[in-house]
Amino acid sequence: MPAFEKSADQLDPRPSFRFLITGGAGFIGSAVVRKLVAETGHSVCVVDKLTYAGNRASLASVAADPRFRFEQADITDGAAMRAIFADYDPDFVMHLAAESHVDRSIDGPAAFIETNIVGTFSLLQEALRHWRGLDEVRKAAFRFHHISTDEVFGSLGADGLFREDTAYQPNSPYSASKAASDHLVRAWHHTYGLPTLITNCSNNYGPYHFPEKLIPLMIINALEGKPLPVYGNGHNVRDWLYVDDHADALLLVAQQGQVGETYNVGGHNEMANIDVVKTICSLLDELRPDPAGPRERLITYVTDRPGHDARYAIDAGKIGRELGWAPKETFATGLRRTVAWYLDNPGWWGDIRSGVYRGERLGSA
Ligand code: NAD
Repeated sequence: MPAFEKSADQLDPRPSFRFLITGGAGFIGSAVVRKLVAETGHSVCVVDKLTYAGNRASLASVAADPRFRFEQADITDGAAMRAIFADYDPDFVMHLAAESHVDRSIDGPAAFIETNIVGTFSLLQEALRHWRGLDEVRKAAFRFHHISTDEVFGSLGADGLFREDTAYQPNSPYSASKAASDHLVRAWHHTYGLPTLITNCSNNYGPYHFPEKLIPLMIINALEGKPLPVYGNGHNVRDWLYVDDHADALLLVAQQGQVGETYNVGGHNEMANIDVVKTICSLLDELRPDPAGPRERLITYVTDRPGHDARYAIDAGKIGRELGWAPKETFATGLRRTVAWYLDNPGWWGDIRSGVYRGERLGSA
């Protein structure tokens, strides 16, 4: 080719990197993957064990793209991880694979220790091996981004916000396992120099959310005319973030965050659980009226979750100031989109409800 001609690759103004995304068949991971494939020129390799929470149907829109690849593997399997790193040769690792449901961690904590702690350890070891073998330019650009939760900080009273320097005080087996994984990531940076980033995010909601979690469970139960189980008095407060806003934040931090730093991500949307459920009822009454009457009649108070944290709220000022991130959705707009998505996609959640999870109570210990 003459020197003045450029190949298609060289004409593409977007730099193209290889992203290895663990947990990419889950709720948040699949949102990141869909965004990366649809909105950037980067390539993606999803590494996912496909537990009950993993669903390849959430990746259907990108599955045929030549920049997309899927590896079914367990992150605790060091040999499998080593082979994937050697073969895919990633520039970025975004680690979202986890056991993620607090109620399940109460019933069966072992899987949380295995995946969240041992799995993060094995991934760090293989990432470190891979990073050490890169040339200096790629070594400087490589990032290991660990995705975590605000639940590591414990519970707040009526006032205050979680900041990046808030002391860790995890209360559930889930949050304790995530806290342990955060500490491992921090140590692999300080001890071995692995270029890591950590984000701690508040509760996510949106399309493709597994229907054991509050918002999708309430939408689907309400559509089916089933009771809407609210834990305790319903006054526990969570800070809600629309999943695509989280995906934007994650991609920003992975590519522009300061190595070794942690960033809190939150939606500035504090809501008591009972108000979330009532808002879902009124949205459904508007979009899909029930001849039997308003859905609030279905609200049923049930025994509280053991050790239920009272309030989570995030100070997301650092990621806003330093990286210019702000959520695009308010809770009102994001919840309307979410309810509409569940109305439009009964096939996605219908398969789950008739198979791996039928809506039963979990984690009452
Ligand atoms: P999810 O449960 O929907 O998805 C987890 C994915 O990890 C699934 O696809 C599952 O198959 C996979 N997985 C589980 N164990 C694995 C293993 N051993 N090896 C390989 N893959 C495995 O979870 P999510 O809600 O998408 O959360 C993703 C990450 O974000 C988690 O690390 C979670 O702690 C964190 N987080 C979630 C929230 C939230 O509100 N959902 C908030 C903050 C942080």
